[in-house]
Amino acid sequence: GEIGERADYVSTVIESEEASFGRTLDRGIEIFAGAAERAQKSKDKVISGEDAFQLYDTFGFPLDLTQLMAQERSLKVDTAKFSELMEQQRQRARAAQKDVWLSGVSNINFSASAELTVNKNLPETEDLHKYHTDQCDAAIAGLIDGDGFKDKGQIDTGAQVGIVLDKTCFYAEAGGQVGDCGIIQSAKARFIVEKTVKIANCIVHQGKVAEGAFDIGEKVHAVVSKDRNSVKRNHTATHLLQWALQEVLGKSVAQQGSYVGPDYLRFDLTYPKAPTAEQLGQVEELVREKIAADLPVTWTIMPKDQARKLGAMALFGEKYGDEVRVVALGAEDKNGINEAFSREFCGGTHVDRLGVIGGFKIIKEESIAAGVRRITALTGSALTSHLEKGSDIADELSAMLKVPSESLVERVGQLLKDNKKLAKELKAAARHSGTDSMAEARGLLAKSEKTGEASIVIGQLSTTTVEQAREAVDMLKKKAKSAAIVLGFDDDGRATLLAGVTDDLVAKGLKAGDIVKEIAPIVDGGGGGRPQMAQAGGKNPKKIGDALTRAGEIIKQKLGG
Ligand SMILES: [Zn+2]
Repeated sequence: GEIGERADYVSTVIESEEASFGRTLDRGIEIFAGAAERAQKSKDKVISGEDAFQLYDTFGFPLDLTQLMAQERSLKVDTAKFSELMEQQRQRARAAQKDVWLSGVSNINFSASAELTVNKNLPETEDLHKYHTDQCDAAIAGLIDGDGFKDKGQIDTGAQVGIVLDKTCFYAEAGGQVGDCGIIQSAKARFIVEKTVKIANCIVHQGKVAEGAFDIGEKVHAVVSKDRNSVKRNHTATHLLQWALQEVLGKSVAQQGSYVGPDYLRFDLTYPKAPTAEQLGQVEELVREKIAADLPVTWTIMPKDQARKLGAMALFGEKYGDEVRVVALGAEDKNGINEAFSREFCGGTHVDRLGVIGGFKIIKEESIAAGVRRITALTGSALTSHLEKGSDIADELSAMLKVPSESLVERVGQLLKDNKKLAKELKAAARHSGTDSMAEARGLLAKSEKTGEASIVIGQLSTTTVEQAREAVDMLKKKAKSAAIVLGFDDDGRATLLAGVTDDLVAKGLKAGDIVKEIAPIVDGGGGGRPQMAQAGGKNPKKIGDALTRAGEIIKQKLGG
């Protein structure tokens, strides 16, 4: 039964939610480690406010948790910047709320008093024409600008306003379907409609006067953009997609939201895990079969109870009046609505026959929240250009790699394999050169001079890395037990000098930092460090030999005296 299905669904969501919380936590700890590393390297040892905010905003780390974790590593957190970012986010949230309230009339700046006027005085627009036609004659009932609604006056060239008509064929943004674009024109003037929105029962055509001027009360002709045809294709395809998803994934799949524009369609659904590629393939197959069968689409207005009996699906949380519009796929007219394979409460615009959709492809499937998946798909001409682009890329790769396109996958696979192998070889080669530095250092120790128990190991290594040279110094210290070590090497025109002194000799006053400070100027450089280990760089590698000779003199002087 349905309750059983829902219960199964709920338990799977809880499981996947726990798993996803674990993943978020792991990822957050990873992000913290990165932030801590950056802070370690910074002068003040402070975790940036941006990092702390990201941890809070994306991974749910409260500020005191971040501070606690920072404390463990002797780091601080920039709380001032964190608070500033929190405040900015609060302001953004407030602004977004206001936008929703104004149904997205975003390019008109309403003052607070105008908002009130807008809601009190707005006329009702008759807009049933949107279901039958994409152009109609009308009269301008008024305009909306920053001061609110006006039913008298002129609309001048260049004015950015909302035009209200007595009746319209434009569709206002609702139920996921974008508002129509188009033009409103008279004999002497033209208004570009960029967006259509609904405030209460008033349809507002937002845009700009491109030419001439309008008088309020004037007769005009309104024409919806051809984009509407693509919107219709995508809206009907969204209903097909919902039907097919329920066929393949089960009746517990419910719509969570959608976007229907001229460019693509997006459908959010409740489902606890990622559908398999095979399931998505079946969904596409079902949708394409219905498109190919070119079945009719119809709609009717009926009492809500009757619609429910027919099993029309309602969006969770959406409010309907007593009368509802039902869109049916696979029915010729309202007498055939019982036989339709898909029936939904919907106020959107649709194609008359499924064949018009012309094609269907899912291009993305992703998770957007625990238990909610998002599917993005294309139809019609947007699908054709998507496929053309893909084929162009294949052609380009094919020419680049000199193989036919059907062999591209194999060829690229081989290239990746080769690349991995080369990377491995390169790593091995680098390790090998490291062993050489060690071998050279051991050679220097074997022929080193001694002053009492202490070995004086001085010499030049072949080109190597600072890390490897430091390892060599450490190794020599351990091996010799009591030693003063100075090594130098030339790396592509740059001199590096390293000195290491064992603790017993540091106690006698010999310090690696002092040695390096004195010999670094010989190679035109500078440096320093601790008594046990120090390092310098310089611009003149030709003088490394001189610097090493001088180092020997300094050491002997200290240890001899
Ligand atoms: Zn719909």
